[in-house]
Amino acid sequence: MRVVVKLMSVVSLVGMAMSAVAADAPADLSLTRFDCGKTGPLSDPGLGRFSDINAFKGLTVQLTYSCYLIKHGNDYMVWDTGNPAAGGATPPANAPRLSLVEQLAQLNLKPEQIKFVGISHYHGDHTGQVASFPDATLLIGKGDWDVLTDPKPNPAANAANFARWISGGGKLEAVVGDKDVFGDGSVIMLNTPGHTPGHHSLMVNLKQTGTVLITGDLAHFRENYDINGVPTFNANRADTLASLDRFKKLGANTHATVIIQHDARDIEKLPAFPAAAK
Ligand SMILES: [Zn+2]
Repeated sequence: MRVVVKLMSVVSLVGMAMSAVAADAPADLSLTRFDCGKTGPLSDPGLGRFSDINAFKGLTVQLTYSCYLIKHGNDYMVWDTGNPAAGGATPPANAPRLSLVEQLAQLNLKPEQIKFVGISHYHGDHTGQVASFPDATLLIGKGDWDVLTDPKPNPAANAANFARWISGGGKLEAVVGDKDVFGDGSVIMLNTPGHTPGHHSLMVNLKQTGTVLITGDLAHFRENYDINGVPTFNANRADTLASLDRFKKLGANTHATVIIQHDARDIEKLPAFPAAAK
């Protein structure tokens, strides 16, 4: 009898251990890049505003606008929403060729299926299509949310895009610190303030690819990332430097693939749409 009881407890312990592993392991997880706008090659004087120490005389870089889809089991998250989609007779030059909704349709997804829309920061080239996801829970740094909801409008923050959430109509989490989006460590919004008060980067821990770190606008292109450069349009220089320090050390310790969202050379670090990194 005693042996049977012991055996049963061993079996149930093994069962518990296995279910604990299953709960912690990332569900079917993948990462897809969306095209969220375009620019031509950028050099002086346009590039000058990306450095508050005049570091880039004579440099030309090709910038881009990137958004991402994270599939976590049957749940979906969109990271950043880019420039407003083209529309009307004279669409802006940096408008994406296809909207996020159109790109999702190519993956047989509807905007209603997006559970979370995570926003790195409040600038218009990251928030242009957020209103396309009225049913999603908005995840945005509290520092940025406080600016968006300040009665005195800050022209750098595009509050109009967030009308649904500002009016109280949409689900919202104003993120303080890091945010473990799905609760299993697979996708984490990283607190990297400085570019804006509530700026966040994104960590995605993929099974095959390993850790992917996506900058947001912590840096805009490789040359600036490499020298810990700070743009002229930046909320807090000391915070940006501290955030770069954290991000780089985290990247080294996790052997991460680092993707600078605005650097066109980093597009190829993920499979080309509609393929996904797993
Ligand atoms: Zn920005």
